[in-house]
Amino acid sequence: MNVMSRIAAAPRAPEKLFIGGQWVEPISKQRLEVVSPVTEETLLSYPEAGRPDIDRAVAEARDAFDNGPWPHFTPAERARHLRRVAELLSERLDEIANAWTLQVGAPIGLTKKLVGQNPTLFKYYADLIETYPFVDDRKRDDGGKVKVVKEPVGVCAAITPWNAPLVLLSYKVAAGLAAGCTMVSKPSPETPLEAYLLAECIEKAGLPAGVFNLVPAGREGGDYLVRHKDIDKVAFTGSTAAGKHIAAVCAERLARVSLELGGKSAAMLLEDADFAAALPSLMVYTMPITGQVCFSLTRILVPERRKQEFLDIYLGAVSKIKVGDPFSPETQMGPLTMARQLSRVQGYIAAGRAEGAQVACGGGRPKGLDKGYYIEPTVFTGVHPYMKIAQEEIFGPVVSVITYSDEDDAIRKANNSTYGLAGSVYTSRPERGYEMARRLRAGTVTVNGMIVDPKQPFGGFKQSGIGREGGPEGLDNYLETKTIHFA
Ligand code: NAD
Repeated sequence: MNVMSRIAAAPRAPEKLFIGGQWVEPISKQRLEVVSPVTEETLLSYPEAGRPDIDRAVAEARDAFDNGPWPHFTPAERARHLRRVAELLSERLDEIANAWTLQVGAPIGLTKKLVGQNPTLFKYYADLIETYPFVDDRKRDDGGKVKVVKEPVGVCAAITPWNAPLVLLSYKVAAGLAAGCTMVSKPSPETPLEAYLLAECIEKAGLPAGVFNLVPAGREGGDYLVRHKDIDKVAFTGSTAAGKHIAAVCAERLARVSLELGGKSAAMLLEDADFAAALPSLMVYTMPITGQVCFSLTRILVPERRKQEFLDIYLGAVSKIKVGDPFSPETQMGPLTMARQLSRVQGYIAAGRAEGAQVACGGGRPKGLDKGYYIEPTVFTGVHPYMKIAQEEIFGPVVSVITYSDEDDAIRKANNSTYGLAGSVYTSRPERGYEMARRLRAGTVTVNGMIVDPKQPFGGFKQSGIGREGGPEGLDNYLETKTIHFA
């Protein structure tokens, strides 16, 4: 498939911005470009929202919240609209998968499997709000009546990264709209296509004007949006560095903030683990989307005694991963998404070598792939927990195998991280797995696998974030609690 047919297969990038329920001409003349991770050529150029455009989007969202019907609709009315968005998204799943593969380089087989999460999130929050206790009747000690009510937090900025563009946006928009908030979305400059598509579905579903607004922009635009006095809450997914900055900006005016940040998650194989049974999930989750997923299991903890047995199995499988064109159905791993990702990952591989870890497989450019941001799936052994490659989020297909002496040592090493996003415990005794899971300082732990389910809460301990997305907790993110006393 050449570049032109890839672009033709993708949703279009409109020359307009979606603000106040209409496609409007951008005021700013700035433009952004998307580069193909496969060909390194420009795929498309599109208008970047500037400050006056962002002001306009925030004003529309403010007006829709303060004066519009959306926050006052009954949950059933909001649910009806969200279900319509879900139906419209369901009709466009192939386009969404194509756009994801085109911009990110994630294999088409994988993106086709995952895109269903988008309508699922809209349907899930539609169902949830129909039974959610927005009003709780209570009694005071003096017998007086109290109503504790949950109200939408207000105008929300949704700022999302490039690796899973629509899923991470859908988590925010579905929950925020379900709560009765209005939204201004700023997608990642490298992957704008799916956000336009969502805007089209929201427009077609007939949501009131200003409830959802789209301002594609880069980091500077994101910063301007976060600082905007009319934004009541920022929902952010991205790097820990940007998350800390955003939290500090929000602290100035105590704007609400939820942060889904980086990770350095551990897969812990206990002494009694069946390595062959663990392999399929390790193959999927140690390097998903070329390792560019926040919950990638990038540290594998194995008992010292069984290290060689594990390496034989795991390295045998990793060295057979089919790296190549993400649009080819046989491809298991595509390229990294952009040039800066490639140099970042190469830098970490060099740092691992310099610190004395050994490259047990991979480490370079795959043979025969001279163009594109490709890198071989790479596994380091001889890794000490203090090394840079064991501490920092690489965001590429680079895994560290770390040995441990006993279970206490395994827990110590797994928790020896500033991050705490996810983890796995592999064991033949699920109850033992549960006990070990309770000792991991991480937001999501799976016994014998890796599961992220949009209907369950997901988020980080420590520097992996604040707040949860998904599940009822994801709705709470967009609600304020008000107590009404009857004297
Ligand atoms: P990034 O932090 O550079 O950018 C994320 C988004 O924030 C982009 O839209 C960007 O334009 C914007 N942004 C950047 N700096 C900003 C600022 N100062 N003010 C406002 N907006 C700003 O991250 P990235 O490189 O796009 O994504 C990779 C990171 O995202 C990784 O660290 C990964 O772990 C993390 N991530 C976390 C989750 C999660 O759920 N925890 C999911 C996916 C990705």
